[in-house]
Amino acid sequence: MVTTTRKVKCPGCGGESVYAASNPYRPFCSGPCKNHDFGAWASEQHRLPDDNPVDDFDIVGDLPPPPLPQ
Ligand SMILES: [Zn+2]
Repeated sequence: MVTTTRKVKCPGCGGESVYAASNPYRPFCSGPCKNHDFGAWASEQHRLPDDNPVDDFDIVGDLPPPPLPQ
């Protein structure tokens, strides 16, 4: 009986990852890869709310004031 091991590309390091029950970190190749990817996601989510208000302020600051009706 031949057991074929399915392999996928690890989203963490781009290397080969065993996609099987023997790999609890699938589709990642290892625990550090999984944790690193999760950390990147978390920090990115924390950064997004910070960036948006700054962008808004920049846009508002660059716009000329609306003409006043007279
Ligand atoms: Zn990896």
